[in-house]
Amino acid sequence: MNLPIQNIKDKLSGLDPVSALKLLANQHPGKIIFSTSFGWEDQVITHMIFKNNLPIKVFTLETGRLFPETYYVWNRTMEMYEKPIHAYYPNNELLQQMVNAKGPSSFYESVDNRKECCGIRKIEPLKRALDGNEIWITGIRAEQSQNRHDMEDVEWDDQNNLTKFHPIFHWSLDDVKEYIKLNNIPYNTLHDRGFPSIGCQPCTRAIQPGEDFRAGRWWWEDQDKKECGLHTA
Ligand code: SF4
Repeated sequence: MNLPIQNIKDKLSGLDPVSALKLLANQHPGKIIFSTSFGWEDQVITHMIFKNNLPIKVFTLETGRLFPETYYVWNRTMEMYEKPIHAYYPNNELLQQMVNAKGPSSFYESVDNRKECCGIRKIEPLKRALDGNEIWITGIRAEQSQNRHDMEDVEWDDQNNLTKFHPIFHWSLDDVKEYIKLNNIPYNTLHDRGFPSIGCQPCTRAIQPGEDFRAGRWWWEDQDKKECGLHTA
């Protein structure tokens, strides 16, 4: 682990998630940002940020292919906390070129096409959102997948040139559910219908009991290719 990361890790050691977020927000004013896709982990962190008026920008990647339930919880969250959630859209020209050449559902045809679509709808807007920031907050938890299990709660992101912090990295799913219930936080009702991980509508399905957390994402592809490139270990 590099030295600056170890320093941040030491400073955050023993702090609860809200205190850790507060400390980072104070030490990186205007350069700390949280990405939400409105899953329940993200809703927990959104609540922590908005309820405590933490100066952390909250943003989402509006791919244009989200579930109606996701738009609903997005709206509900803005109404409830009366705070902005910044939407980053794909580059219009790149999107048009892809859809004009390959149609609206090219991602089912090959892994390359799927990565191209994720690249245009997610990765490029993400880079724009992260640009100029020093700390990226996420709702990743270790138990979500093997790839995520291999991550750390504080880590250096080489691709985006910033530090990532996952405040509820060590929480269990039950911890998340309990916090949501206790604080009456709006959440995506797809979670109640077998969707542990919610992304774009055409690329996400419900899973069966016992199936892996990511089994419902890009289910037509190999198991080990199931990250869209936003978070890699
Ligand atoms: Fe495209 Fe599917 Fe990736 Fe969404 S999840 S950006 S629709 S390939």
